[in-house]
Amino acid sequence: MAETPYSLYLHIPFCRQRCAYCDFNTYAGLEAWHAAYVDALEAEIRYLGRQAGWRLPVHTVYFGGGTPSLLPPGAYERLLTAIADAFHLLPGAEISLEANPGTVDRVTLAGLRAAGVNRLSLGMQSARPEELRLLGREHDLPAVIRAVAAARAAGFDNLNLDLMYGLPGQTLAHWQFSLEWALRLAPEHLSLYALTLEHGTPMRAWVRRGLVPPPDDDAAADMYEWAAARLQAAGFVQYELSNWALGGTDAAARAAASDQPPPLPRYACRHNVQYWRSRPYLGLGAGAHGWAAGYRTVNVRAPQAYIARLRAGLARPPAHPFPWTPATVQLRRLPQDEALSEYMLMALRLTREGARWDEVRRCFGVEPEAVFASALARCQDAGLLERVPWGARVTPRGRLLANWVFRAFVGIGR
Ligand code: SF4
Repeated sequence: MAETPYSLYLHIPFCRQRCAYCDFNTYAGLEAWHAAYVDALEAEIRYLGRQAGWRLPVHTVYFGGGTPSLLPPGAYERLLTAIADAFHLLPGAEISLEANPGTVDRVTLAGLRAAGVNRLSLGMQSARPEELRLLGREHDLPAVIRAVAAARAAGFDNLNLDLMYGLPGQTLAHWQFSLEWALRLAPEHLSLYALTLEHGTPMRAWVRRGLVPPPDDDAAADMYEWAAARLQAAGFVQYELSNWALGGTDAAARAAASDQPPPLPRYACRHNVQYWRSRPYLGLGAGAHGWAAGYRTVNVRAPQAYIARLRAGLARPPAHPFPWTPATVQLRRLPQDEALSEYMLMALRLTREGARWDEVRRCFGVEPEAVFASALARCQDAGLLERVPWGARVTPRGRLLANWVFRAFVGIGR
């Protein structure tokens, strides 16, 4: 069987300022470290290539953050050259980069496109100025409109917009306004995320102190349902709990062999699908996580420590086999029961494909209908899960109560 292609995630932990709701591993004010960080990332790419022992096939690369668009296009040219040297970058590989509107112009975007980036993900979040202010975002709607126009002019034909709903004080009409604006900008892909109050964020503190109303779960559910219907009417296919893409139709899904999952829409994010299918990926950069050769890996979080570890570690022999690098602070072989649970938790996020029993049998050597019998029955009785010829997937109601479904599959197989 051909080797399953790998995905690479490269973390860029820099932002101009911290947004009020964000708990990602990212830092403002570290401009002086940008160049050394790119050197370290390049070193980690080459290190992993050597550790693998052969040029692993790679079909997606994702520069996430943080704000990757803060680094100049030349940095990505270097990193992609190193990736092409160290790995077998497959023809047609998806190469995504996250960008903040307001940090990009046509020249920068043309440089990124020329470097090989072929998918752009813009953090729009909202079309309403008061919501963007509350979130602590530094851009406004005109900046989003300019960024989309610049991306198109630079030749990007695969564009995602991120939006947030369930914001404090947000009404359904406000949400409709933002989503309609996003549709007017004609992206190929939309990611819609409900606001969560993460520990240690200013937003959580404001809500706790009563300065900002708490997010309303019922209102967020209404926004989600409205968006799902609106996007379907606009020709988008929902393929994951929070993700919609153009380039697929229900007719195409029906025409596919009925014992196989419907094909992904053409503009589905293949990199994220790799995670949801529990396929292998290498996480490079400060705080990045990976999953390869049966190991979960976690890199050191602080960018300065990451740089120091790469500098010092290159001179020493490797402490562990692939996928270890000098930046790795956790390398853990996942026990089978944990890997099986994780497979279900990730796969059930895929709303059309769901969990595939042929994958469960192939990867874990167990009979899914037996191992998951009680969890499947509970979720099915609650109307949250449905059986399909190739496995199981969440129902439209289950999409709203996905955490309930996930809990049913935690710890299974122990
Ligand atoms: S720009 Fe993105 S990564 Fe940076 S602080 Fe804001 S939400 Fe977090």
